[in-house]
Amino acid sequence: MWLFDHPEFDDHEKVLFGHDHVTGLKAIIAIHDTTRGPAVGGCRLWNYARDEDALTDVLRLSRGMSYKSALANLPFGGGKSVILGTPDIKSPALFRAMGRLVDSLGGQYRVAEDVGISVENVEVMAEVSPHVAGTRAGGFGDPSPATARGVFMGLKAAVKAKLGRDDLTGLRVAVQGLGSVGYHLCRLLHAAGAKLVVTDINQEAIARCVQEFGAEAVAPEAIYDQEVDVYAPCALGATIHDETIPRLKASIVAGSANNQLAEERHGEALRQAGILYAPDYAINAGGVIVIAHETRPGGPAYDEALAMQHVDRIHETLLAIFERAEQDGVATSLAADRVAEDRLAPPLSAAAQ
Ligand code: NAD
Repeated sequence: MWLFDHPEFDDHEKVLFGHDHVTGLKAIIAIHDTTRGPAVGGCRLWNYARDEDALTDVLRLSRGMSYKSALANLPFGGGKSVILGTPDIKSPALFRAMGRLVDSLGGQYRVAEDVGISVENVEVMAEVSPHVAGTRAGGFGDPSPATARGVFMGLKAAVKAKLGRDDLTGLRVAVQGLGSVGYHLCRLLHAAGAKLVVTDINQEAIARCVQEFGAEAVAPEAIYDQEVDVYAPCALGATIHDETIPRLKASIVAGSANNQLAEERHGEALRQAGILYAPDYAINAGGVIVIAHETRPGGPAYDEALAMQHVDRIHETLLAIFERAEQDGVATSLAADRVAEDRLAPPLSAAAQ
């Protein structure tokens, strides 16, 4: 299939295919939109069944980053990169080759961690390029606590919009996935007085939340059937589909997972079921927001308070999306796209040129 006809092409500005014969690096960098600024997005290492799958993945993910940055009001565009292969191809030489590929774009794309790529791996890329985010030198390290804080603020906005409440005391929340983000979300919810029902495939992760937060543990498959107010997917994507929607007793879906809707139409299906959905790329932007605030060569030092104020604005962003959905009579997932597209549109003066 030719790139320009690809179903996920969606007017990408640039797609770079890179290969390094010494280290065996095979990578694709996709830059979707730089209207708002240089493209920022993580690098994913994945063993794709076919090279075409890698292209589809990187195009879809980079477009998602344009929308996420626009909704979070960041001076960034959307981009993403993928390295094709299994974890055993990892080596400092390979990450330096990837760093050089990123550097060849002269700052149009800024790379960071994603699935399969650690802070240490991006720090090796940073040895050969200044266009690397998410290193410890940037000031904050692991972005997951910031992502959890943003999800907490977005969840509170959904509770306000749907249940008319400002406090979370006694609110019942089902958290699926107790990893880097899910654990910190549980900590914040517990401190706010919420009651937790949790699940994970990792028993140690469950035990920690039961012990520290008095959470009730359930089997992974049972999480959809709980008598709760909120379902918070913080594990894998695509958990919202034709089989799970009728099982949900929650009136709100608000969690960190990427690509929560199995298909776009499930946004409307949630609306029809009377469930308020906090769109994933709006509520889970805390990580990319702190990346926007990190220290850059020659720039101001990372200011934690300022970065957290920005993360907390996810609350207002979510309220604006809920309002737009109400006004337009559409699903919140569609309303979020519309708000993001308004912000991605070039200014009228530029469009006229
Ligand atoms: P993680 O790998 O640290 O945690 C995921 C957890 O989910 C693990 O504990 C895992 O055991 C559990 N899990 C896997 N399959 C499960 C299943 N079927 N049922 C229940 N639990 C299951 O990942 P994370 O960094 O916490 O990210 C969680 C989600 O949020 C991912 O979808 C990620 O893409 C998204 N996200 C994360 C960040 C971030 O800053 N870390 C930012 C934006 C989005």
